[in-house]
Amino acid sequence: MNFFSIRENPWFIAGPCSAESYNQVFETAKTLVQCGNVSVFRAGVWKPRSRPGSFQGRGAEALPWMAHIEKQLHIPVAVEVAEPEHVELLGKHSIHIAWIGARTVSNPFSMQKLADSLKGCGFSIMVKNPAYPDIDLWCGAFERLLENQISDVAAIHRGFYPFEKSELRNTPRWEIPIEFRRRFPDIPMICDPSHIAGNKSFITDISQRAFDLNFAGLMVEVHIDPKNALSDSKQQLLPEEFCQLVQSLIFRKGSSENPEFTQQLEDLREKIDVIDFQMLELLMHRMRYVDEIGEFKKQNNVSVLQLRRWGRILESRLEQARREGLAEDFIRQLLELIHKESIARQTKIMNKK
Ligand code: PEP
Ligand code: MN
Repeated sequence: MNFFSIRENPWFIAGPCSAESYNQVFETAKTLVQCGNVSVFRAGVWKPRSRPGSFQGRGAEALPWMAHIEKQLHIPVAVEVAEPEHVELLGKHSIHIAWIGARTVSNPFSMQKLADSLKGCGFSIMVKNPAYPDIDLWCGAFERLLENQISDVAAIHRGFYPFEKSELRNTPRWEIPIEFRRRFPDIPMICDPSHIAGNKSFITDISQRAFDLNFAGLMVEVHIDPKNALSDSKQQLLPEEFCQLVQSLIFRKGSSENPEFTQQLEDLREKIDVIDFQMLELLMHRMRYVDEIGEFKKQNNVSVLQLRRWGRILESRLEQARREGLAEDFIRQLLELIHKESIARQTKIMNKK
């Protein structure tokens, strides 16, 4: 039976960003175990840091601490691995759950070496999304593992490098883990709200959002003394805060057996199917006029892009969106997409020999 097989209850993986001392990890783990609900205790031992000079983790010295926690407190422990040497050292300390971090997964050479070193070692492996929103890189990491018969795996969504200014440390881009799940429906998707948030005040909202989207669990950074943590100090919760978080969240199931609910859902979905069909027909209808205008512009040697017209379209449709209670940003993006496609079609018509 796989450790990461899909199950009824959510996974709660919790523990400090870094293992700093025996007391720090043991006390954190002890308090977490007391509040129950924790499936795995995590701590980073080798810390990949963007710049040299920051705390790089205690390294192999911390492995006996983690192994001791597993034995003494009867809770599985997990550590980040970035190199084959780390895998070997974990094996020596009988630690068999590990995760691969956002920086390592971004490098296919590192990923391949790790996958090769994990072959046949009986590890349960979690893979974080790469820092850049490249879904193929994330999927590729799992393909490298699966090719080596490492199938006890889970994915961790930790958000993506924020290209726009944001109050969050990493942009969630929820559509990317959703697409990942479409491609790999049997791999549990766990959310790491700590690295998305970068600040503990956002963790509850992000966690609930993950459950609303039917994620399988959470990985949360928890420290016995967050203020003095050697890494990621602002985003770590106290063990008590973590317990409150778990209590406050509503876990949502992927489906329901209730026949009334199923029937109503079916009916409403049928209505949506019809509307989607009509929407596509309408779009095609619109594009036919776009093509006709393209022919006219060509005959009269008038440019494809008509800025004033585009400005008027945006203005009037956004005004309507506001009246109808549709999010302005959503409608703007939709119109921009349609306009882009219209320009592409007319450009093709203009340049047809
Ligand atoms: C971590 O989990 O402590 C970590 C380094 O995360 P990430 O790889 O997501 O940055
Ligand atoms: Mn961290």
